[in-house]
Amino acid sequence: MAKRTVKNLPMNPGPAGWNEILGPAPHYPEADGTMSADWLIIGGGFTGLSAAKRLAELRGGDEIILLEANQIASGPAGRNSGFMIDLPHELGDDGYTGAVDADIKQINLNRHAQAFVKENAAQYDMPDEAVNAMGRVNGTVNASGKAHNDAYADHLDVLGEAYRHMNASEMREMTGSDFYSSGLYMPGAIMLQPALYIRALAQGLVHKQAHPLKLFEQSPAISFEQQGDSWLVETPKAKIKAKTIIMAVNGHAESFGFYKNRLMHVFTYASMTEALSDAQQKALGGEKAWGITPSDPMGSTVRRHDGIGGNRIIVRNRWTFDPSMAVSDARIKAFGRDHDKSFTNRFPQLGDVEMAYRWSGHLCLSRNSVPAFGELETNWFSACCQNGLGTAKGTLAGIGAVDLATKANSPIVQDLLSYDQPVKLPPRPLSTIGANLVIKWREFKAGAEL
Ligand SMILES: Cc1cc2nc3c(=O)[nH]c(=O)nc-3n(C[C@H](O)[C@H](O)[C@H](O)COP(=O)(O)OP(=O)(O)OC[C@H]3O[C@@H](n4cnc5c(N)ncnc54)[C@H](O)[C@@H]3O)c2cc1C
Repeated sequence: MAKRTVKNLPMNPGPAGWNEILGPAPHYPEADGTMSADWLIIGGGFTGLSAAKRLAELRGGDEIILLEANQIASGPAGRNSGFMIDLPHELGDDGYTGAVDADIKQINLNRHAQAFVKENAAQYDMPDEAVNAMGRVNGTVNASGKAHNDAYADHLDVLGEAYRHMNASEMREMTGSDFYSSGLYMPGAIMLQPALYIRALAQGLVHKQAHPLKLFEQSPAISFEQQGDSWLVETPKAKIKAKTIIMAVNGHAESFGFYKNRLMHVFTYASMTEALSDAQQKALGGEKAWGITPSDPMGSTVRRHDGIGGNRIIVRNRWTFDPSMAVSDARIKAFGRDHDKSFTNRFPQLGDVEMAYRWSGHLCLSRNSVPAFGELETNWFSACCQNGLGTAKGTLAGIGAVDLATKANSPIVQDLLSYDQPVKLPPRPLSTIGANLVIKWREFKAGAEL
């Protein structure tokens, strides 16, 4: 087959606070020259690095190369809000839930992903803040949000899952804010410092395995072709021959020519404060670290984090549909004003606190909320499109792609192969206009929770 080119390379708009506060990152070399390997993983996020870890477990002696287009932890995996959620959390559904059997299966899988991440943290000696099993709260501000939470709690009763209702004063004790009228605490969520976890996982794979991963940064795959029973993948400076490819590039599967017009490229936006001074922390009160998801999926995610880089608050909200896979600095600035408003509404006592970092990040959703997973061509495996929940689903997809390729018939493979393929989107520009209108309408409905 002829050589195929990769049409679009990833861009990461704005400096991601989580990565910036860690200070300079370890650098890995750029791929250069001619190389060969048993396995080539493309993409160094949750999915690609989990695939590398799973390969180290199952095929310890094999040669494994991983290509990352940019720098490890500078992409979506290091710029998300870090909620690794065990319970149903379907972003496309107003109530986050699905059918009971499907939810039970998903909870078990998500917990498998959590256990995998915890094992990685222990094996590679990660600091506690990288993977913190502290649970999360679904915060509400009004009767309709409370109704969402009550319905969710009823569903958790059916599933036999633990939770605790919190009233306004308990919410204030935790957050220091009068903003929330109630909340639903769910103990099973893990809160990641996403950039720290991703950096430490890469470091562990390169420096703490008997047979180290060969990791290359600033090394985008730009073309590929089948040659006999192998694949030849080119970067700007290297040619890499590998028997098996694991494509772990999330929405960029489409840039490789797969799933054409079947993946939705969505961006969401975040701001992180400067480190709070002792006086500011005193004025705020509350606990030093917590995580709040909104009861309406279109509301604001808010976290307080304590660790390297100090004590900070992070606000994430707003969504846009951008098939171009790019957003402008002007957009980040404009949505930054929304973050400021959300911040002031919650923390009027912190009027003098400035935002230190503002950024955006690319998520891949499919219209029918399914992954883009499977063997697409001989020995070319896709582990893409995590539907906005990549901390858990990307971890699972990375493990699952390796299990599928090595013919380990695990429950993860059975699950990932049980879904339909992502359905086609309406033709552009109809899909762009339609999707942005739906987003605006849903954001409008979430109004008070923004
Ligand atoms: C602001 C924000 C908040 C979020 N909050 C959460 C949250 O709280 N919980 C949650 O579960 N999810 C959250 N998400 C989503 C989550 O970040 C993604 O689902 C997750 O990062 C997907 O993991 P991944 O490894 O599949 O893909 P990515 O993290 O996108 O990694 C793919 C990697 O592939 C690389 N790549 C792409 N093309 C090439 C190429 N040609 N050659 C080489 N490398 C390439 C990219 O540079 C990238 O590093 C959030 C996302 C954003 C942006």
